[in-house]
Amino acid sequence: MSGGIEAVVFDWGGTLTPWVTMDFAAGWRTYTEILHASEPDRAREVAELLAAADTGRWAAVKDGAKAFHLGEVLADAAIDTSSELHGKALEAYREFWVQATHTDPEAAPMLARLKERGIKLGVLSSTMWPGEWHEEWLRRDGVLDLFDGVTWSSDLEFTKPHPEAFHAALAAVGATDPTRCVYVGDRPYDDISGAKGIGMRAVLVPHSDIPVEQQVPVDVEPDAVIHRLAELPELIRAW
Ligand SMILES: [Mg+2]
Repeated sequence: MSGGIEAVVFDWGGTLTPWVTMDFAAGWRTYTEILHASEPDRAREVAELLAAADTGRWAAVKDGAKAFHLGEVLADAAIDTSSELHGKALEAYREFWVQATHTDPEAAPMLARLKERGIKLGVLSSTMWPGEWHEEWLRRDGVLDLFDGVTWSSDLEFTKPHPEAFHAALAAVGATDPTRCVYVGDRPYDDISGAKGIGMRAVLVPHSDIPVEQQVPVDVEPDAVIHRLAELPELIRAW
């Protein structure tokens, strides 16, 4: 064992996976350009509806940590998901996002070092995408098997920073004492205040260019700040 640390749980976007600024509406256009291939105006109009639904759901996350999943965004925009083209269109949407899913190359060796010390490892992400998408990306990058448990808010009632999300992530890795657990994330409000709210230690990786509309001012100090994932094993050795 390393000191007293029982588990380390990581944020996904902007932490395990380096931040990439993406255009939500462009992502939805890849979907609607297949769904409405012969009607470009309709495709543009429906993409705007989807982007508005997506943004609206994220606003509810910001206001009350209300979790949601992709199916609810499609329903908000009145999309007929029984259409023959839906599957192919959704595949195009997912392909569009793949550029933002690549795991930091420092993650695997860092995780292996923590694992060697007997530390349990987890992921907790606020996401609308299905867990299987995330797990496929982690598997592609050779890190999925290093985790004891992965938790996606699309399966939960609440996102970060709600305490229930953090408790779910600790339960998923089999950790029992939050004070002996560390959370690593890139957002002061969602990640740092959420983790500290249940008594975890919190490490900030301040890399991400977080959209202004998603930022929440918060008066919280992380227990540490790191600039590379590779710094983590040494940092928490003394904890
Ligand atoms: Mg993040």
